Amino acid sequence: LAQRAAQLDAADPLAPVRARFDLPPGTVYLDGNSLGALPSAAASRLDDVVRRQWGRGLIRSWWDHGWWEAPQRVGDRIARLVGAAAGQIVVCDSTSVNLFKVLVAARRLNPDRDEILIDATGFPTDGYMAESAARLTGASTRSVHPRRLAENPAEIIGARTAVVLVNHVDYRTGALWDMPGITEAAHAAGALVIWDVSHSVGAFPVRLDECSVDFAVGCTYKFLNGGPGSPAFLYVPRHLQADFDQPLTGWHSHHRPFDMAPHYEPAHGMARGRSGSPEMLSLLALDGALDAWNGVAIEDVRTKGVALTGFFIDCVDALLPSDQVTVVTPRDRRRGNQVSLTTPGAAAIMDAMIARAVIGDFRPPDVLRFGFAPLYIRFADAFHAAALLGDLVS
Ligand SMILES: *Cc1c(COP(=O)(O)O)cnc(C)c1O
Repeated sequence: LAQRAAQLDAADPLAPVRARFDLPPGTVYLDGNSLGALPSAAASRLDDVVRRQWGRGLIRSWWDHGWWEAPQRVGDRIARLVGAAAGQIVVCDSTSVNLFKVLVAARRLNPDRDEILIDATGFPTDGYMAESAARLTGASTRSVHPRRLAENPAEIIGARTAVVLVNHVDYRTGALWDMPGITEAAHAAGALVIWDVSHSVGAFPVRLDECSVDFAVGCTYKFLNGGPGSPAFLYVPRHLQADFDQPLTGWHSHHRPFDMAPHYEPAHGMARGRSGSPEMLSLLALDGALDAWNGVAIEDVRTKGVALTGFFIDCVDALLPSDQVTVVTPRDRRRGNQVSLTTPGAAAIMDAMIARAVIGDFRPPDVLRFGFAPLYIRFADAFHAAALLGDLVS
């Protein structure tokens, strides 16, 4: 296995991209699905933004350095990774806040229906936000396993369903759900659909336009490496933008913000997805971080992601006792860039791994999660992690 890892690394077309990251020596970092590693360009960009743009340019930088338009400009840089034409993504606020905006907007677009259908395996914040949006708009929520949604949509999506909210990749198991199939079924049943692509953006090609997705939100501090708390993004296809009536109508989403007018008039285009002042330092650190993607084809990232996770599963099968460790991530290609294992005492095992500089994470009740970011993880890292796990478990 060690030999195979070396061969795979030697043949890896993305291997040189690793040098674009500032990684701590001797650490194997398999938690890039929670907080991406630091791209060197993010650090240098942030330094320039703080010292020169802010320090010297002061308030002039809102215009001289394009701060005002940055949420849409950075959104257009993310667009190619999620299969969106330009002018449909804005970067601002957190994923949670953007979920709230699109949930309320979707309800307003489908006012005769009063149910929000949510993914029972979704990231908790999605459900929390859906419950609040439902309370505020006089709707109710119902949660359903995405497998049932994929298998039998006509039975699940009802005449009362206004909107369906699904996580593209299950954050716990890494299972990948069928975006074209579920979207088409929701539309056939008269419902809108919101996809949370937090764990798929930067992991594999997402095809928002091609799948006719109504709304999408996603996180930038995972596989996009934007840094802790970097702002999230929000996608609204062009044909829905004029009717996109989001509830957090701050002045940055106003048609003429500097008129200081007494009443709200929404901006045209994706600026209407904004609220108040953007978190400019985080946003521009993300802008720098996205340089790590220059010249990188997302199809190559997918190919390597499948190979890396597949190789790690092979190592687990070979090196770990199958009566103690179960791979809960799908073994076919229907998975994101993570492998999750269940094992008794998972929390203590992860602590021991981290103490030995192999960083993954633990999710209750008994899940060990390993994220494989193809831009900077090597096959040798996957082997090393599985070998260490083998020593700790047996
Ligand atoms: C990480 C993640 C989020 C993050 O939400 P924030 O409000 O940006 O912290 C939301 N949804 C999913 C599915 C995630 O994986």
